[in-house]
Amino acid sequence: MRIINSLSEMQHYVQEQKKQGLSIGFVPTMGYLHEGHLQLMDAAREENDLLVASIFVNPLQFGPNEDFEQYPRDEEEDIRKARERGVDVLFFPHVHDMYPSSLSIVMKVERRADVLCGRSREGHFDGVVTVLAKLFHLVQPNKAYFGNKDAQQVAVVDALIEDYNFPIELRALNTVREKDGLAKSSRNVYLSKEEREEAPYIYEALHYGKRRLQEEHVSSRQVKDEVSRFITSHTRGKIDYVDILSYPQLERVEEYSGQIIIAAAVYFSKARLIDNIIFEVRS
Ligand code: AMP
Repeated sequence: MRIINSLSEMQHYVQEQKKQGLSIGFVPTMGYLHEGHLQLMDAAREENDLLVASIFVNPLQFGPNEDFEQYPRDEEEDIRKARERGVDVLFFPHVHDMYPSSLSIVMKVERRADVLCGRSREGHFDGVVTVLAKLFHLVQPNKAYFGNKDAQQVAVVDALIEDYNFPIELRALNTVREKDGLAKSSRNVYLSKEEREEAPYIYEALHYGKRRLQEEHVSSRQVKDEVSRFITSHTRGKIDYVDILSYPQLERVEEYSGQIIIAAAVYFSKARLIDNIIFEVRS
């Protein structure tokens, strides 16, 4: 496995591989790798000649009061896991190379970002699309792999690829969970023992909500309230949001049919956890 820090070395490597007609699968991450990331790498490994993964904790997508400094990092362990998973190139750019000065041209997400995490994390998705536009140019993947755990991110990346004509196929994979249902996340290490025991109730609450939505004469307001109550009665977490929207448009709809998402974000003492279920409703 080759480790590349330099942006120009990354570009040069990609150009050489492209000349030979090799296809590139790309898995962008913020590191502290777990099975959720590794599943994306397995899929990319399988479907492409080369597998490039990146590790970059992107300051632009963290708000001033968020956990950029505290975000968990373990470079050595990440290198070991990536190597074991057959990554060909691990791209580890430095912040000062990615953002040598403030940008002259800024990207702003106009749709799909005024709900869910975009509402409580102002500017988050602007930071996400900015770093991804840069990474997509540097890595030039044929396919890019994302997890549905961050379903809003997938919806926004889908729009980025469409709006800006990136010749990239977006691949979105299912959420990898712990045995008790908790979505795997780098931030789970910041849960206390009690919080870790309670956290699987978020997924259980979403399942309950999904079941209720498929019943007749139940309003989405009612289901959102019930799901929120389910979470607050089983955990000490504080609800950021519980919402039900069309997917991937992320719009409010009166009559639910087609693909919808039920999603929640919950603050624990040192970690904010998100989870969702995407499913089809027949009218
Ligand atoms: P992150 O390092 O948290 O930015 O995540 C990098 C990629 O891994 C994103 O596309 C995430 O959606 C994906 N990912 C993170 N956790 C999971 C999970 N539990 N299951 C599937 N994909 C995940």
